[in-house]
Amino acid sequence: MTDDRYDRPRSTRRSNARRSSSTRSVMREGGSARTSSGTRVRRSGSGRSGSSRQARRPSAQRGPSTQRGYAYGGSARNSRSGYGRRRQSSGLLPLLILALVLVVAFGIHRFLRLGVTVNGEKMTVWRGTTVEKLLDKEVVNPTPGDLLAIDGSIITEGGGERCSVEIDGEAADVTSKLKRKASVNIGDGADVTEDSTVSEESIPYGTADDSREFGLYWSGSIHLLSDGQEGVRTVTTGSVSGITLDEVTKPAVDSGYRIYTARPADKVIALTFDDGPWEGTTSEILDILEQYGARATFFTIGNQISSYPDEVRRAKALGCQVCTHTWDHAAGSGQGVNLTYMSASEQIDEIQRGYNAISEVLGEEPSHIMRAPGGNFYGDIISTLWPYVDAEIGWDVDTEDWRLPGADAIAAAITSAQPGQVILMHDGGGDRSQTVAALRQAMPVMVEQGYSFITIDEMLAYGVPDQDAAIDVG
Ligand SMILES: [Zn+2]
Repeated sequence: MTDDRYDRPRSTRRSNARRSSSTRSVMREGGSARTSSGTRVRRSGSGRSGSSRQARRPSAQRGPSTQRGYAYGGSARNSRSGYGRRRQSSGLLPLLILALVLVVAFGIHRFLRLGVTVNGEKMTVWRGTTVEKLLDKEVVNPTPGDLLAIDGSIITEGGGERCSVEIDGEAADVTSKLKRKASVNIGDGADVTEDSTVSEESIPYGTADDSREFGLYWSGSIHLLSDGQEGVRTVTTGSVSGITLDEVTKPAVDSGYRIYTARPADKVIALTFDDGPWEGTTSEILDILEQYGARATFFTIGNQISSYPDEVRRAKALGCQVCTHTWDHAAGSGQGVNLTYMSASEQIDEIQRGYNAISEVLGEEPSHIMRAPGGNFYGDIISTLWPYVDAEIGWDVDTEDWRLPGADAIAAAITSAQPGQVILMHDGGGDRSQTVAALRQAMPVMVEQGYSFITIDEMLAYGVPDQDAAIDVG
C-alpha cells in the first residue's frame, strides 16, 4: 500500500512530462525538498487528460489517489472539474515561486554556513569566517604571550602572540579563513622577543707563552700548535627595551704552543688507544665501544693499517677518530720510541706517511692530530712539525696497561678519570686481553656515573678553558 501510494505520483509525472516544459524545469530545480507540492501539480494536470485517465481507470488505486488530490485544496478540485490549464497554473504560480524562493534561500544558506570544529566543539560559522573573528566573538579565549626583552625580562604582559592556531593539524595564521569541516585548535599565544640589532666585533688573538720544555709536557694532555685564531664578540641591542648584551661568542685563541687539559661543563672523557690496529684486540675494543655508544680515538701505526683496513673503517663508522702515532713508531734512528732523535725530514716523513696510511683506507685526509711515541714531544720538533700538526695529544690518566698490571688495576685507572681528561690505553703492541677485560669492567661503571666518551676533535672543540688556565710558563 505504501509503495503504491508513492509509485502513483511518479508514473503520473512520467505521463505528464511532455505537457509543460516550464513546470518540468521548475520541478528539477526544486529538488527533493519540494516533491510533495510538485506532485500535487502534476496530479491535477492529469485530471484533464482523457487518455491518461483511461489508462488509469483499471487501477483499483485510483479512488484513494483522487481523494488525496482533493485533500490538497481548491486548485486540485478545479482541474478535475475540467477548468482550463491556464487557470490552474495561475493558481499554483505563487506556490511555485514560494517554493523556488525557499529552495534558493535554503541553497544559499547552505552555501554560506560551514560546519567546523573549534577546540573539539562542533559549530557552524559563516563562510569567510577567520580565526580572528572567532577570537573577537570570544568563541575561545586563549591567553596571549608576553613581549620579552632580549635578556628575557617582560616588557609588556600579553604583548606577545595573541594565540597559537592549528588548522587540520598544521600551524596557521589568525587571518586564515575556515573551510568546511575544518578542525581548528586555538591555544595560548607564545612569548615574543623584541626585535634587536646585532653587531659583531672581532677579538684579536695574542701570543701565548711558548715553552717547549719537556717537563711542561705533562701539565696538560692537549698540546696545541696554534697559529692564533681571532675571537668574536657579539653585541645585541633590544629595539624596544634598549638593553644591550655583550658576549664573547667565540673566544680568541692565542698563537703559540699551548698546553692544557680541557675543562668541559659536561661529564665527557676521551678514551685513546695506541699502537694498533691489532689482530683481534682492536675488534674486541670496537665491540665494547659500540655496546656502550662510546667513541674513542685510535692513534695508529701507519705500517700496520693496511693489514686491518676493516677495523679502521669500522672505527670511523662508529664515530671514532683515527689519528696517527707515526708511520713505524719512530723505528730506526728514533730507537722505536723517540721522534726527537730523528732528523727533521725523518720526523716530517713519520707524520706524513702516517696520515697517508689512514687516508688510503678511509678515503679522506685525517685530522692533523697526532700522538708522539712515548710522549716525546719537546724542543725543536714542535717547530719542525708546526706546519703539519694542529695538536699533539698526551694523556692525563696512564693506565699502564702495556705493563700488564691486571684487568682490575687498568679498570681502576679508567674509572679514576675526571671530566675533560684523556686516558691512555693500547689496542696493539702485544697481548691486550687485560685492556679488553678492563674496559668490560669499567665502561658500565662510567656510563652509570653519567659519563660519555668523546673523540679528541670533540674535546678540542671545548676550547682552551681560559687564557690563564693554560699553563703559564712566563
Ligand atoms: Zn705507542
